[in-house]
Amino acid sequence: MPPNEDFGWCSKHGVHNCVLDHPELAERKTLPSQEQLQEDQRQAQSSLAMGVRKENNSRCTLYQSRIQFASVESVRQAGVDIGLVERDRVIEAVSGNGEIVYDPTRKATIAARVPGSVWAVEKNIGDVVRQGELLALIDATAVGKIKSELLRALAEKALQAKNVARLKDARGAVAGARIIEAEAALAKARADVLNAEQAIRNLGLPIDADNLRGLSEDQAIDNLRLLGIPQTYLANIDELAASTNLLPVVAPISGTVVDRSVSLGEVVDPSMQLFEIADTSQMWLRLSLPLETIDQLSIGQQIRFSPDGSSRIIEGRLDWISTGADQHTRMIDVRAILDNQDGRLRDRTFGTGKVILRDANDAIVVPSEATHWEGCCNVVFVRDKDYFASPDSPKVFHVRSVRLGATYQGKTEVIAGVLPGEVIAVEGSDVLRAQLLKNGLGAGCCVEE
Ligand SMILES: [Zn+2]
Ligand SMILES: [Zn+2]
Repeated sequence: MPPNEDFGWCSKHGVHNCVLDHPELAERKTLPSQEQLQEDQRQAQSSLAMGVRKENNSRCTLYQSRIQFASVESVRQAGVDIGLVERDRVIEAVSGNGEIVYDPTRKATIAARVPGSVWAVEKNIGDVVRQGELLALIDATAVGKIKSELLRALAEKALQAKNVARLKDARGAVAGARIIEAEAALAKARADVLNAEQAIRNLGLPIDADNLRGLSEDQAIDNLRLLGIPQTYLANIDELAASTNLLPVVAPISGTVVDRSVSLGEVVDPSMQLFEIADTSQMWLRLSLPLETIDQLSIGQQIRFSPDGSSRIIEGRLDWISTGADQHTRMIDVRAILDNQDGRLRDRTFGTGKVILRDANDAIVVPSEATHWEGCCNVVFVRDKDYFASPDSPKVFHVRSVRLGATYQGKTEVIAGVLPGEVIAVEGSDVLRAQLLKNGLGAGCCVEE
């Protein structure tokens, strides 16, 4: 049997006698179209660009080997069965464990700003709230005290202002020193008002002391009593019964109440979380991936997440990659933002996620068991195209070095080395590998580079 023409090593694709560049070497009756060949070369480029693919040894000569059987029957007896090089979808992905959580940038935990007891609880777990809506009222003596300090400071300021005005009217009759003294007292009273005002603001209450000016003391007290309690809620309160100590606790963001750890009458202090509100319209997916995958990741890649115990697939896009790995686990964290308008995603859902690196529809694939590592190259065994030409035609398998890509659902992508339509040994192909190595055909192979 005459040897095939020998084109040697293809440095572009990393195989010997490259059928992507010399399709006439393929063991098939017809040549692929030029368009198809170009498309396959493009696919090979994009697959090689994915990163480290196992290399073959350029100096290996095993590709020149052929393994000949006496008959079709002896092939059968050796347990060798064949399959086709095909096209199929190949998805290359990195996977890791992950968790769906509330978007922490859209989450708020709420505590009372001062100690007190719970006077009313207005919202419960699951309630949807708008920003500013009342969650609870706390009865806190500190609140009443600060309010009365403001009233006292306002009264003092009014008194001192009157005093200064009176002294100035009687300018000639009083010593300048007394005017200066009175002005100092007024300045102090003004400062006290500002201090009291700030203390009230620090409680989260909206206050503008200017609005209280000109009101009688009773009017000012009424005004201050229910300070910060939303207008819509006032109808529910018997205003006269309401204490001046009431501190409203309102929602700082719009969202859903996801936790409530407070009940009526309970004594609370600022260290206790009363409510948790989360905007659940979008959630975060956090995944941990092996550090070595970091070079393959980029923002925008698709993520598919399967929650434990569910057949559902949740999709999102990679939108953040941590810059450092965890010191102990050597894992990196990545994140996707998941849409949750329908509210189906739950906080703390564990599962497995995949970042899709590449999704090729028309990759060249072979059954994974057809590929073998012979010591320095990946090979497959390709049946001669004239195998059945006549009963006497040689029953030959050619050794072909192949550059392997992704493995997906039992099939292995061949970046270069075979073309669709070629027939290869699949089941029992390890018999051919054993034969190859037994015959010492590998001599000169496996040399150190
Ligand atoms: Zn090539
Ligand atoms: Zn080799």
